Amino acid sequence: MKDQVYLLGASELSRLLRERKISSEEVTRAFIERTEQTEERIRAFISYDAEYSLAQARASDRRRSEGKTQGSLDGIPVGIKDLIAEKDQPLTCGSRFMEHFRSPYDATVIQKLRDQGAVLWGRLNLDEFAMGSSTEHSAFQVTHNPWNPDYVPGGSSGGSAAAVAAGQTPLALGSDTGGSIRQPAAFCGVCGLKPTYGRVSRYGLSAFASSLDQIGPLGRTVEDVALLLRAIAGHDGQDSSSLREEVPDTPSALREKLSPKRIGIPREYFAEGLEAEVRTAIESAIGFYRSRGHTIVELSLPHLDYAIPVYYVVATAEAASNLARFDGIRYTRRSAHRNAIDVYSRSRSEGFGPEVKRRIMLGTYVLSSGYYEAQYLRAQKVRTLIRQDFLEAFKSVDFLFTPTSPSTAFKIGDKSANPLAMYLSDIYTVSANLAGIPALSIPCGFSSRNLPIGLQLLGPFFSEKDLLQMAYAFESEHDFSSRQAPL
Ligand code: GLN
Repeated sequence: MKDQVYLLGASELSRLLRERKISSEEVTRAFIERTEQTEERIRAFISYDAEYSLAQARASDRRRSEGKTQGSLDGIPVGIKDLIAEKDQPLTCGSRFMEHFRSPYDATVIQKLRDQGAVLWGRLNLDEFAMGSSTEHSAFQVTHNPWNPDYVPGGSSGGSAAAVAAGQTPLALGSDTGGSIRQPAAFCGVCGLKPTYGRVSRYGLSAFASSLDQIGPLGRTVEDVALLLRAIAGHDGQDSSSLREEVPDTPSALREKLSPKRIGIPREYFAEGLEAEVRTAIESAIGFYRSRGHTIVELSLPHLDYAIPVYYVVATAEAASNLARFDGIRYTRRSAHRNAIDVYSRSRSEGFGPEVKRRIMLGTYVLSSGYYEAQYLRAQKVRTLIRQDFLEAFKSVDFLFTPTSPSTAFKIGDKSANPLAMYLSDIYTVSANLAGIPALSIPCGFSSRNLPIGLQLLGPFFSEKDLLQMAYAFESEHDFSSRQAPL
């Protein structure tokens, strides 16, 4: 068993630890070794410090031997998207600007993981400041899809999804502003959840678009995602947008029998642009739910067409404001010039990559005087219409099911020179962020090229437990989550 540890999910590992069949040090070593064997082909990590992680693992083993274990994640490695602050560890945000920066404090989610004894394991690659859908916009490296190294892992949490799919970590944290957890999860054949806006504290997450950003879990199975969600969710006084909603004990609720539900299928998500193999896989997943007694209802979310333009106005406007603090004075990268204006402008032109500059320019433009009403304000109004589409739909159905992405993973290089094509790959994911509702992606099939396909499950505010229960019902009767990437 011990040479296959990296194939096991977090809940299985947690059971073995509890039964003393394995130690956290052995578990952590197994993932470190697996990473060393595969990382040259995957490039999921920007950095890791094996000794730092092993020290946490040994501390967990000591706690266990003293009967002081903290919870189900005690001793389990969790990889962290390199956008989430972890005290004294590098925090690059995938950017040259932050290349040599170390975080002086812990994000709330990191503090929670430490409190529960999780082993913090490695800093995972991402598109610079989480802006992208392929991880090709990382300033440091391109991450490869474990299912086929010629393909992207998705983005921006591409390192997180690829590391889980490659068996380099059982769990990872990502962040999702417009799809950055769900789309890479779909492309890499793992599970990823974007929680309700406000469910998880954003304190210590480098802000991209503050009204859309959420931190969330990625794992091989629905249960693993439920475990990690429970560990990080909850109100936090450090984040004024975090909400005082009770965190349900989702992992133990997964096996409960489901009453028949009403599942909405939004017509607009099955229109032009959807790859035939993705459509087939989604339809067969829907067929499964129908055969289990759930009611399938076709309906309309009429404002889908506006989701991409609205997202790229709102997200860039917020990004331009959030990134104004990177001035070459307060953060690491500083260009050597005498005059202050030169320091600002040179530091920014040398520190930011092309995609980030594009977003800053777009965002500055839509906020500028004379354009603000026509662009930004109008986008906010349409955002309200999109949110109302969902609220309206949830009056008649419990969930909405859609593809996570219109296609399977695309080839490295295919879209990196065409920003618009890249932006359009977010068509099915951005609305959940605009509306603030939770959304989950789970593997539901494979294409003829053996690339994974993701099913997206959307629900009303704070319906994470129900979404995970629904997903669990599918997962437990299919083998998509247990298939191994051919590494
Ligand atoms: N791909 C989207 C973008 O580029 C979403 C990114 C994200 O969710 N962080 O903005």
